[in-house]
Amino acid sequence: MNTISIAIHGGAGTLIKGKMTPEKEMAYRNALQEALNVGYSLLESGASAIDAVEQAVVSLENTPLFNAGKGSVFTNAGTHEMDASIMEGKNLKAGAVSLITGIKNPISLAKQVMLKSEHVFLAGEGAMRFAKENGFGIENPEYFYDQFRYEQWQHIKDSDSFQLDHSDKKDSKFGTVGAVACDQNGNLAAATSTGGMTNKKWGRVGDSPMIGAGNYANNNTCAVSCTGSGEFFIRGVVAYDVSCLMEYKGYTLQQAADEVILNRILKIGGDGGLIAVDANGNVALPFNTEGMYRASRSSIGDEVVAIYK
Ligand code: ASP
Repeated sequence: MNTISIAIHGGAGTLIKGKMTPEKEMAYRNALQEALNVGYSLLESGASAIDAVEQAVVSLENTPLFNAGKGSVFTNAGTHEMDASIMEGKNLKAGAVSLITGIKNPISLAKQVMLKSEHVFLAGEGAMRFAKENGFGIENPEYFYDQFRYEQWQHIKDSDSFQLDHSDKKDSKFGTVGAVACDQNGNLAAATSTGGMTNKKWGRVGDSPMIGAGNYANNNTCAVSCTGSGEFFIRGVVAYDVSCLMEYKGYTLQQAADEVILNRILKIGGDGGLIAVDANGNVALPFNTEGMYRASRSSIGDEVVAIYK
């Protein structure tokens, strides 16, 4: 039996320490622990990596604490537009959706795109038609309402600026959730889901639903889910870059993940982090921000649930 492992994130660039209360910290940690347990117990019981990452992300999407699913930020129009993607490392199959509204669990829709459409990426109205045809219900806008995110949006809604979840100069917190896993058969998978950026407009799409940028899985190398300043992560093709460094240059998982997050992405001005696993039970969780909501567990290593460095 292969080593099993899972890592999850709830966004890089956390609340600055000064703004984090013990109660909030406990709530974040509990939510991370719960999602980790969901994914790990599935792997333990023999489930596939793709099912484990989907269900871990569903758990994160269902809490208002993170910017994905229920906790998605407000767009410039006062709506919630969500993006998600999922990828299976054994066959390089992938599914992605962007600009979707009212879907409780965007990651499950991305998975259905992978399984049931002959396509990889569906967006906007078409993605919504696909969702309805495949039995997805539509939540009322109230389901996604959160007072904190509403105030965040009110603060900047009449300006041209858009911002990563929570960010202002010193207090930058990116949203987005993700999971990566290796199952008992040595298969890898990655899943990423986000509400994007507060006050975004013009159908802005970040790296999260883009295969190779915010999400990637390949059994020969690694599974990766990213969080951070999406525009830079797209330009850096970050998730695939980690895989390439392993494949072409023989880097270990940790070396490749560190090189991309602590060097390459910084050089082009990007901040954020990623979670990654390989097929040997290794886990890497690098970030170049003050913190990243993260957790991991493997059958050969220690359990991690952490927020700051
Ligand atoms: N990468 C996401 C995006 O740009 C945001 C995030 O990770 O918080 O949409």
